[in-house]
Parts: sequence; C-alpha cells; structure tokens
Amino acid sequence: MLPEPGAGFAAALARAAELDIAALLQKERLWPDEFLALLSPAALPHLEAMATKAHALTVRNFGKTLQLYSPLYLSSFCSNECVYCGFRASHKERRKTLSLAEVESNAQALAATGIRHILLLTGEAPKRTPLSYLIDCVRIIRRHFSSVGIEIHPLQEAEYVALKKAGVDSLTIYQETYNREVYRQVHLKGPKTDYDYRLNTPARAARAGFRSVNIGALYGLADPLFDAYCAGVHAMALQDEFPATEISLSLPRLNPAQVSVPPENRLSDARFVQFMLAYRLFLPRLGLTLSTRESAALRDNLMPLGITRISAGSITRIGGYDGRESASGQFEISDERSVAQMDAAIRARGYEPVYKDWQPL
Ligand code: SF4
Repeated sequence: MLPEPGAGFAAALARAAELDIAALLQKERLWPDEFLALLSPAALPHLEAMATKAHALTVRNFGKTLQLYSPLYLSSFCSNECVYCGFRASHKERRKTLSLAEVESNAQALAATGIRHILLLTGEAPKRTPLSYLIDCVRIIRRHFSSVGIEIHPLQEAEYVALKKAGVDSLTIYQETYNREVYRQVHLKGPKTDYDYRLNTPARAARAGFRSVNIGALYGLADPLFDAYCAGVHAMALQDEFPATEISLSLPRLNPAQVSVPPENRLSDARFVQFMLAYRLFLPRLGLTLSTRESAALRDNLMPLGITRISAGSITRIGGYDGRESASGQFEISDERSVAQMDAAIRARGYEPVYKDWQPL
C-alpha cells in the first residue's frame, strides 16, 4: 500500500503532475494518484480554488467549529536517540517525571482555563512511565477533563485496552518519516528503531477501541512530498479498515531555527497550506490538527481552510501549568496565546470554539 521512495515514486509523481488539476477539483471523490497530483508543485497555481473547495467541504462535514485542546507533558525521560529531539537519551539535561500530586495540580490549573480536551505526553521511557503510572495519571486527569488523549511510547493492543478502561479515548502517534532509510538514519537507538512496530501502532489503538487516532509525519526529516503522500494514504487505509474510528492527521514541522533541516526537506508555508488543502480534498472527513509549533498568524489564516482541532495555551515543559518549577520542553512553541486569547481569535474568524464534544459513559 505505501510506496517506497526512489524511481518508482518519482515516475508516479511525474504521471500525477500531468493530470488536469482543475478537472480534479470538480470531482466528488479522489483516488490516491489524484491526491498526489494535488500535493505536487503542479497544483500550486490552483491554491485559491483548492482553498474554496476545502472550506466548503470542511463546513459541510464539521460545521464552523474548532475543537480546542491543550497538551500536558508528564515526563522528559526517553530511551530513544532521535537526532532531531531535545529529549533524546544522550542529551545531558535535567529530566523530570511528574508525581501524581503534580499531575493533580497541573490538571486543576489547566482545567481552570476552560479546556476539557487534554493530550498527555511523555518521552519514550517505559521504565520511567510504566503502564501502572500512566493509568494512575489518567484516573486523576479524567476527573477534570471529558476527553483524554495520549502521545506516548507505542504499546501492545492489550495495554491500549487497559488505558481505554482507565479513561483514555484517543491516541496520537507520528511515524516521523515514512522513508525507511531516513527513519533508520535519524533513529539511532532504542525501541523506536523498529519502523514497522511504530507503523502498526495506530491500527492497534483503533482495534483496542479508541474513538480517535491521530497520525502524521514530522516534516523536515525527508522529502516532504513523499511523507505527505504516505501519511495521506496511511490515513485513508485506517479510515477504510476502522470506519468507527475518527482518524486525524497533523503536519508538525521541524523549526530550522532550532534543528538543522536540509533545504530540500524544508516545507515552506505555501506548500504547508497546499498539503492541508490536499488532505481535506482527498479525505473530506479527516480531522486536521494544528499545534502551537506554528505561528499565530499562520494558524489564524488556516482556521477556515480545513483545520478541525487546534491547541491553545500550550506549555511544552514538564508540567508548568501550576506555576511550580518545571523541566525544559521538547521544542519551543511559536503561538503563545492563552486559551482565552485563542477563544477570541477563533470567534473573530466567525467560528465556534468547542471545548467539549465528548463525554465517556
Ligand atoms: S522524539 Fe520522542 S522518542 Fe525521540 S527522543 Fe524525542 S521524546 Fe524520545
């Protein structure tokens, strides 16, 4: 299903780029080669028409709403060696895992902002954040939030079932890059070196019964067009196999000011917008998440074009919401607006901020 990079993919891209983009924009349903055409540079002159259709499809499927969520980082310990990340095992820095009392105080402080959807994150160090710790955290968190997501080390299906029972309803897991060779080069050590185990993680979570699964690539590691295409096809396959699961996609980008990114791997703002639009046209019911890695101006401009979920008031340090000392974060955020400020920005665009659209029985 997923292509390999190289001559075969280049030939498929060349064929796709010859398709009539204007004619594709009249179609109700697109095939993967037509999605590839919309991702290709040949579609750049059609951005305005793509944006018009993306807006209409989003309003038809999701209304004029944007769901708000905030991340809570539980731990910065990690046993992997991802060359692009400040949490990598060899990086000498002060690490921290929140105590359960700190989880409670951070949950209370975050809930006081009005946020009801939370994403719990850790580095990938199962010995520091074992399943029992995660379940204890979730039991505290669920008292304050209606939806609890996790972005942690990949688990077995039975472990996801246990987390679901504790109160988790969604999973975020990024493949980082779908280029196996680059994946091998940037993941030097630790369990994350297993490409296939990671690739099959979203399916394990869907099988465990999570209502929502969010995937994506980390742009800047490999050819962005290849990763965007593979992530889209991966999302399509998950939608087909798990029709009861809400599949979403994010487009996190490495910031060249923080991490060295080869020029050919950089995803410009224009191509970033193009990819977002192409996803919406290819998979009209796909959730699209935008994090605070992106600037306030770009996030505001993207609101009407297909985004369905947006973070607010984010702190990427460990804890940090309760005003106590916290260890340093995984990456710098670009949009530092509070929940109240994001609420106002969303309403100013004519959209309704949604704090809660899910309550477990
Ligand atoms: S990207 Fe994730 S797994 Fe890799 S070093 Fe950072 S925290 Fe660990």
